[in-house]
Amino acid sequence: MSGRWAASVVLLAVAMAAGCTPPGMVTCAPPAPRRDAFVYKPLEAPRPRPARIEASPPLALEIPRTRLEPPAPPAEAGWAPEADERPWRWIVIHHSATDTGSAAAFDAFHRGARQWDELGYHFVIGNGGGSADGHVEVGSRWPKQKWGAHCRVGDNEEYNYFGIGICLVGNFDNRRPGEAQMAALARLVDYLSHRYKILDAHIIGHGTVGDTRCPGRMFPMNDLLARVRRLRAAREALGRAG
Ligand SMILES: [Zn+2]
Repeated sequence: MSGRWAASVVLLAVAMAAGCTPPGMVTCAPPAPRRDAFVYKPLEAPRPRPARIEASPPLALEIPRTRLEPPAPPAEAGWAPEADERPWRWIVIHHSATDTGSAAAFDAFHRGARQWDELGYHFVIGNGGGSADGHVEVGSRWPKQKWGAHCRVGDNEEYNYFGIGICLVGNFDNRRPGEAQMAALARLVDYLSHRYKILDAHIIGHGTVGDTRCPGRMFPMNDLLARVRRLRAAREALGRAG
């Protein structure tokens, strides 16, 4: 026996002892990976992070505020008096019984023909003839918180001393006041009644207590009170919301 043949026999015996079938029949173990099977994979570059998505601001809901929020007229700032306030408890509505007019025109009339100290009303609301339609003019008495000269009833000065006099330019025996005047009047009355805690029953026309048709047969007092109540409800709703 040659040495080469003997080595083959030894190898076969070792293989069979290890539980393997002889070579050439079935391989007994998974082939070892070839060294050259390893493929170098370069490190992947870090993937860019997805761009951060900015949270979009919440949609601004277009809530119609007009029903809730009375537009603040610039004049309102001028309605707060400078002097110590009188304990007002009445609001008395008048008409001028003229087609046109203004605070200045009535002031001249009251000082001249009537020989009064100055314009008797505290506020005048124009109708477009002599002063702008719906414009609230503050009379000279108001900043001083001076008693009014617009509603004496006999010898009773209650409504002059404690009543705020508001005159609308126009003659409402003939027609109703316009929308701008009514809207301005309602705002003013709401402002004043809120400021001085004046009862609705104390918001009156001149003729309610005096012997006169002022503020005119066609003046819509119920409409005024309804407007004031709507403004008050809107203000109070806003107060609760805020
Ligand atoms: Zn009057």
